Amino acid sequence: KGGVGKSTITTNLACALQILLDSKGKPGVGIMDCDIYGPSIPLMLGAAGRPEIQNDMILPISNFGVRTISMGFLVDEDTPVVWRGPMIMKTIQQFAQNVDWGELEILVVDLPPGTGDAQLSLVQTIPLDGALIVTTPQPAASNVARRGARMFEKVNVPLLGVVENMSYLKDAQGNHQMLFGQGGGQATAESLETNLLAQVPIDPAMREGCDQGIPIVISDPESDSSKAFFTVAEGILKQLCP
Ligand code: ADP
Repeated sequence: KGGVGKSTITTNLACALQILLDSKGKPGVGIMDCDIYGPSIPLMLGAAGRPEIQNDMILPISNFGVRTISMGFLVDEDTPVVWRGPMIMKTIQQFAQNVDWGELEILVVDLPPGTGDAQLSLVQTIPLDGALIVTTPQPAASNVARRGARMFEKVNVPLLGVVENMSYLKDAQGNHQMLFGQGGGQATAESLETNLLAQVPIDPAMREGCDQGIPIVISDPESDSSKAFFTVAEGILKQLCP
């Protein structure tokens, strides 16, 4: 669902995976930003510039060791992308096939909300090892998340788990305030027969980090939210690179 924090989670998860893979001496992480209409990965990752072309291949732009390609690098911020399905499909095919990623252990793909052209193009273009479902605690979000998850199941993409975002806000006394209700992540995971990998708190520092292009995992790796991201990253590595 829009606004639940998919791009925020993509960016922080990619950085957490990069740090963990680095420490194991393994190749790193890329992010393919498939949100063609509203790309936010470049801003959140603090990656800017125009991708160069080398031997007919697009070179990704990297920051914090994470390589990324996004529509955000190809159009300027104020230009709306007004494209129909076939153009979206073509762009996602290019991102998947014509980017020189170098050696990668994991490619994280950020998808727009819903079950539309981007999702369809992606599953038709490259084999996917798994889908991570992001939801917030309230039922409206988890219902939409479930629908998205079922789409991946239909095309035989295994579910890696659920991340519940904006689970609570820690007040000055250390109590958890459940601003958006509770239980959505767990209920979503149970109904999809997968695991709730982590609950990410509401964290104003995380929002600031997104706007400044310094993910919280980099700026404050010991924070509660960063710990949640490392837990998700470890959960994914356990499943994909045992
Ligand atoms: P989506 O990709 O699902 O549309 P975003 O990742 O763009 O959502 O997040 C929407 C906004 O909410 C962004 O401004 C982001 O910084 C903020 N945000 C996301 N998760 C959190 C969180 N746990 N705490 C504070 N702000 C958050």
